[in-house]
Amino acid sequence: MVIYSHSRLASFEQCALKFKFRYIDRIRPDIEETIEAFLGHKVHETLRFIYDQVIIGRIFQLDDVLRYFIDLWNKDFNNKIQITKKEYNAEHYFNQGIKFLIDYFLKHSPFKDNTIATEKRIIINLDSEGKYKLQGYIDRLVHNKDNNIYEIHDYKTGGFLKSQEELDKDRQLALYAIGIKNSFDNVNDVHLVWHFLAFNKKIVSKRTEQELENLKQEIIRLIDKIESTTEFPPTPSKLCKWCEFRSNCDLFNSQPSLTEVPPPVPELPEEE
Ligand code: SF4
Repeated sequence: MVIYSHSRLASFEQCALKFKFRYIDRIRPDIEETIEAFLGHKVHETLRFIYDQVIIGRIFQLDDVLRYFIDLWNKDFNNKIQITKKEYNAEHYFNQGIKFLIDYFLKHSPFKDNTIATEKRIIINLDSEGKYKLQGYIDRLVHNKDNNIYEIHDYKTGGFLKSQEELDKDRQLALYAIGIKNSFDNVNDVHLVWHFLAFNKKIVSKRTEQELENLKQEIIRLIDKIESTTEFPPTPSKLCKWCEFRSNCDLFNSQPSLTEVPPPVPELPEEE
């Protein structure tokens, strides 16, 4: 039985051919890692370091956090990491990471917010028979014991700020909320919290029981559609510029105009 992830579902919705390359043919992608994804990973790892220190009660300063990020960056940076925007170099992205962390530290120190886990794997059961399952990783999970409210925190390092309206319809963290309600007893509520680091801005959203139930049914229908699909046509869009399988895509290679669309800043890929 396949355990789905939000990125697997989103990949199918974006382009069935890309989904096939990635999840069925398991083709090696053209791009190992973009600089935006690398920056996102290093910032996520550093924020994880912060809260892991908090959980074990260790004292740390901003200098410790920045040193952790710098060491990680220097250890893992390599020349296979792709920098697509020619006007920027690696130093630009490194400096962005430093700025994100300084802003975050100054806004949230001394980090007293009942964090209980970082990078928490969550299993999401969509039906009572266990036929439809997803998994995901929550960047940070907070539990407020006094009211039994959980908070799912998600860090965004891209250059787009989503609106409250968009986040009130966001599917990924809402699915994680279903997983939290599956996993813990007597959950009063789950708050969904996004940190847009490039804007030093936090946005919170909530879901009703009915909205979560509707989401379960929507995702079950989508999984049924994926599992009954036998044709995987390409779906060209502005995201083709960032497709990691474009060298395998006949449509992309036969339509140069697809390459002329300005690229968006990609989101950090979800781990699976
Ligand atoms: S280049 Fe575009 S059309 Fe081709 S597989 Fe990738 S996303 Fe699909």
